[in-house]
Amino acid sequence: MSPSPFDSWITNDSEVSSLLAQEWDRQTTTLQLIASENFASPAVMAATGSVLTNKYSEGYPGRRYYGGNQIVDEVEDLARRRLTALFGADHANVQPHSGANANVAVYQALLDPGDTILAMRLDQGGHLTHGSPASMTSKAWHFVSYGVTPRNDDPENPGELIDFDNVRELAHAHRPKLIVAGATAYARRINPEPFREIANEVGALLMFDSAHVAGLIAGGSHPNPVPFADVVTFTTHKTLRGPRGGAILCREEFAKKVDSAVFPGMQGGPLENAIAAKAVAFHEASQSSFPVYTDQIVKNSVAFASALTKEGFRMVSGGTENHMVLVDLREFDADLTGKEAQEVLDRAGITTNRNTIPDDPRSPFVTSGLRLGSAAQTTAGMKEPEFEAIAALIAHALRSRANEDAVASVREDVGVLCHDFNPYAGFTK
Ligand SMILES: *Cc1c(COP(=O)(O)O)cnc(C)c1O
Repeated sequence: MSPSPFDSWITNDSEVSSLLAQEWDRQTTTLQLIASENFASPAVMAATGSVLTNKYSEGYPGRRYYGGNQIVDEVEDLARRRLTALFGADHANVQPHSGANANVAVYQALLDPGDTILAMRLDQGGHLTHGSPASMTSKAWHFVSYGVTPRNDDPENPGELIDFDNVRELAHAHRPKLIVAGATAYARRINPEPFREIANEVGALLMFDSAHVAGLIAGGSHPNPVPFADVVTFTTHKTLRGPRGGAILCREEFAKKVDSAVFPGMQGGPLENAIAAKAVAFHEASQSSFPVYTDQIVKNSVAFASALTKEGFRMVSGGTENHMVLVDLREFDADLTGKEAQEVLDRAGITTNRNTIPDDPRSPFVTSGLRLGSAAQTTAGMKEPEFEAIAALIAHALRSRANEDAVASVREDVGVLCHDFNPYAGFTK
C-alpha cells in the first residue's frame, strides 16, 4: 500500500482525521455522478497539501510584493506555461480561486459597471455568474439572456439546443459589450464559431465559460474556443481533474487588464499550493492518456443516456455529446420530482443533483430534472457496461422507492461496483 498523500500530517487531530476518513469512505463506496465533480490524482492532492500553503506572494512572477518568492515564481510560471501550451492561448492567469472569481474578474477587466452582457438563461443551463438575481454580477452589470429552442422529439432534429436566432436577435437589439458562451447544465457541444460571428456583427467581445468542459477541450473531445473567444474562463476541478480553482486564458491585448482585475482587483494573495496542483493537473492533461480518458468520458455518457432512455427516462435535447446527461423525470413517472429522485438515490448510494429542465413547471428547489455526469466514475475506470448497469440501478431504485428493501439492495450492488472501481485503490486513507 502506498501512503496517503496527506494523512500522516494530521493524525494529531483525531476529530478532523476521522472526518477525512469518513469522507474518503463516502467517496469510494458510493457512486459520484455529480457532473461538476471528479477524482483528482494523489499527485494533485499532495501539491494542494504542500508547504506552498505557507507562502504569501501577492503580485505575479517577477513582480511580487513580498520576498522569498524565487521558487514560487517558478511554480506559477510553470503552471502558466503548461496551461497556454495545453490550450494554445497567448496568456494565462492561474490565480482565480474559483470559476466564479474568474468570471467576475473578466467582467471587471473588460467592462464598466452597468454595461450589458448577453449570457445564457439560468433556468435553461446558464451559471449563477451569468446574471442570476442572487449573484452580485446582476447588480454590477446589466444582463440580457438567451435560451434554447423548444422541445422537439424528432431524434433527427432535436430541440432544446442553444437558439442562435435568439442570440443574434438579442445581440442586435441590445448591443451587449460582452457575449458569454458556456453553460452549467447543457449536454450538447457548444460550438464557439456562431458566437464569434454574432459578436463580430455587433462589435461585442466574446467570453467562453468552459468551466464544465475544460478537460474535454484539453483532451480534444470538445471544440477548443481559444481561437474564437477573446477570453476563456474555466474551473480546474471539473472535467480537467485538478484541484478546486479557476483560471483565465486571453489574447495578449487583454493580458494586463485581466491580471490586474484578478489581483489587486478582486483577490489578495494567490493560493500557490493550488497553483502547484493546477500545474500538476495541466501536465496530466497533456499526456497521451488524457485524450483516451476524455473520449471514454463521452462514450460512457452516451451509453448512459441511451440506457436511461431504454428505462423510460427522457433526455433533455434527446441525448448527450459531452460528460453530462440532463434527465427529464416526468416521462418516467409524472409524480417523481428532481428533489425526491435525488433523495432516493442518496439512500441508494448514488450521488446526483436535481436540476431544472427547460420550461420546468416545478420550482428550482423541487425541479423535474436530474443532472448526471460521467467524469468521476470514468476516472475510477468504469466503461460502458458499468454505466449501463448504473442506469438499471437508478431506474430500479426510483421505481421501487416506496420499498426500503429494494433501495437497500441497490445500495449493495452499488457497493460492489465501487469496490471493483476504486479511484484510490492502493492508497491508504
Ligand atoms: C461551475 C461553474 C462555474 C463556477 O465555478 P466555481 O468554482 O464553483 O466558482 C462558473 N461557470 C460555469 C458554467 C460553471 O459550470
